[in-house]
Amino acid sequence: MNHPQSFKGACIVRVALPVPLRRLFDYRCAGEPPAPGARVRVPFGSGQRVGLAVEVTNSTALAPAQLKSITAILDESSLLDAELLATARWAANYWQGSLGDALFSALPAALRDGRSLPGRRVDGWQISSAGSTALNQGRAPRGATTALLTALAAGSLQADTARALPPAQRAALNRLRNLGWIEPLAEASTIDLAAHGGPPLTRAQQSALGMLLGQSNHFAVTLLEGVTGSGKTEVYLGRMREVLSRNRQVLMLVPEIGLVAQAAQRIQERLGVRVDILHSGLSDGLRLEAWLRARDGTARVLLGTRSAIFTPLPRGGLIVIDEEHDASYKQQDGFRYHARDLALKRAQAIDIPVLLGSATPSLESLHNVDRGRYAHVRLAERANARPPPRVELIDLRRIPARQGLSSPLIEALADTFAHGEQALVFRNRRGYAPVLTCAQCGWHADCPHCQRPLTWHRAVGRLECHLCARLEPAPSACPSCGSGALQPQGHGTERLEEALAERFPSVPLLRVDRETTRTRAAQSTLDVRLPNYGPALLVGTQMLAKGHDLPRLTLVAITSVDEGLYSVDFRAPERLAQLVVQVAGRAGRGERPGRVLLQTRHPDHPLLSRLLAGGYGALARELMEERRAAQLPPFAHHVLLRAESIREPSLFAFLDAARALLPSDTRITMAGPMPSPLPKRGLKWRGQLLLAASERGALHRMLSPWVQALEALPQARGVHWSVDVDPLDVN
Ligand SMILES: [Zn+2]
Ligand SMILES: [Zn+2]
Repeated sequence: MNHPQSFKGACIVRVALPVPLRRLFDYRCAGEPPAPGARVRVPFGSGQRVGLAVEVTNSTALAPAQLKSITAILDESSLLDAELLATARWAANYWQGSLGDALFSALPAALRDGRSLPGRRVDGWQISSAGSTALNQGRAPRGATTALLTALAAGSLQADTARALPPAQRAALNRLRNLGWIEPLAEASTIDLAAHGGPPLTRAQQSALGMLLGQSNHFAVTLLEGVTGSGKTEVYLGRMREVLSRNRQVLMLVPEIGLVAQAAQRIQERLGVRVDILHSGLSDGLRLEAWLRARDGTARVLLGTRSAIFTPLPRGGLIVIDEEHDASYKQQDGFRYHARDLALKRAQAIDIPVLLGSATPSLESLHNVDRGRYAHVRLAERANARPPPRVELIDLRRIPARQGLSSPLIEALADTFAHGEQALVFRNRRGYAPVLTCAQCGWHADCPHCQRPLTWHRAVGRLECHLCARLEPAPSACPSCGSGALQPQGHGTERLEEALAERFPSVPLLRVDRETTRTRAAQSTLDVRLPNYGPALLVGTQMLAKGHDLPRLTLVAITSVDEGLYSVDFRAPERLAQLVVQVAGRAGRGERPGRVLLQTRHPDHPLLSRLLAGGYGALARELMEERRAAQLPPFAHHVLLRAESIREPSLFAFLDAARALLPSDTRITMAGPMPSPLPKRGLKWRGQLLLAASERGALHRMLSPWVQALEALPQARGVHWSVDVDPLDVN
């Protein structure tokens, strides 16, 4: 029996729980109901869970016997303000996550398990600008609330006095806080916004900053496209200074934890303001402290990685997304939101500007410029008036490479070191060798589950599957014929490091990849030690490509670009071009001009010739036309249903059923069910179904009911599935 029941005298609270089920859960509440946005502890399954109260009602579809009671109300008032509650709701709906997952993304880890909210020491309270407006418009509710607000308009309230208020007035104070009509008294200001040194702005930077400062302070999106080394950060700093001078908060995102320290230091030095940091590498306590300071408006500059996009901004004034093209802004598991796209939604809700910066903007953002949705501001030249690095191709068909390194590359390295300069050798493959084979019988080491070659990690004596993370000891003799003639094929960063150390024994060498940076020490070495070093050599993966300023770096070598040239992923050309430009951009940022060498077996590939002839901007235009012709994003909208199962037939039975559930709509095209480009990972088979539409509305209208129906499919049993809205990769 599923009919709404009404309960006299008791209320029903609808609770969002951090579980992947896209629905709310009803509980009975005997006494005073919790405020929407407050945490509650509730019975769930065989245990207790912490959830967020979302709404209070008086009817439920549950039978009285099934309806359980809330165990405890954990917060007096909402933890999240109205803007964040509404934005999280929008995000859950847009990316098809559960509302519980979205709301819990907005809570610091320290509060997710029900620990009590630590009080932040506040000196007192003052009326906010929203409060003044509400008062002037007569929008404040009658009674104690209006009386208190009127009193606050006349003068601030000290914390001691606030604590001594009678209960009715304390409740009124809480209401005003939740409405955002009052704010903590401003912290004794340590901010000194006068210029703190720094280079004088170039004419291009001045004109870019002038355009930004000339914009209104309402919602608007600007793409700041600046070639590598053009000094985008100086423009961010100038824009931030103006926002801080109006006593508003700035939220800035960078794509990697490794970039946070450098950015924080620069902002602190130049703007004389404390920077509050939020990323997953910090302790729960530190993150909670920054979150609380953001929430009560004390924190002025908030800096973090993807998840920091959920930081409360009661006095928000600006959001900056640095390296906006970076794929790490998209969460790739669980709640699959995109921090850049969410930033736009938040800025719109708060009604403040967003600044997106990149040397290699995403085609999505360039498309929004074309459509007139974003303003476009460019920095076309390097700030130090140096020419851009010279890029040369080395044709590996004519010039053979030994151990992955051709002789022109070795000569260029020797020349660089002879001048006391630094070089970077880039290889997007970690480990010693991607393949290990037997010269006698042709055996090769494959992952028994994924059926792909295992990577040999020689230093640790292991074979590792980079797909499923399976590890096994490296054999000393061929497991098939017993011969000792095992041979590595291809080159990973570990092998390049060995070859380069042998060739340049006196040059300090640092390898940077996921293995070497598992220890935090290597990361700080990169930041701290190398900039003032003499000759030095960096070898590494794409972890090297982002942001770091190494002034003595004059040579960048990419040992192979070929894997990116022929890929099933339509985004591969865009990614490769961004990577080449970003890595190349590390060279020649200081006094000396830079040089970039690309090794390839396909020197005539159109992507390479276009990139070399016209740079990223020209290539992006051509890629845009190809996407338009093929009706691919950003000219179409994709939703990818991914599924995996230990049993291959279950996988495809599920995908077939999922397809059958889709309403027929000529505006939506379907591809699949089909095996994923990586059809097996570990013990699981993988498949997918792709939906595409040129019109976003048509796709999104059918999405929620479809995903709800998928949850109820009997064929979903034993299948792990996920829905990815606007997926960034096809795997
Ligand atoms: Zn053999
Ligand atoms: Zn595997």
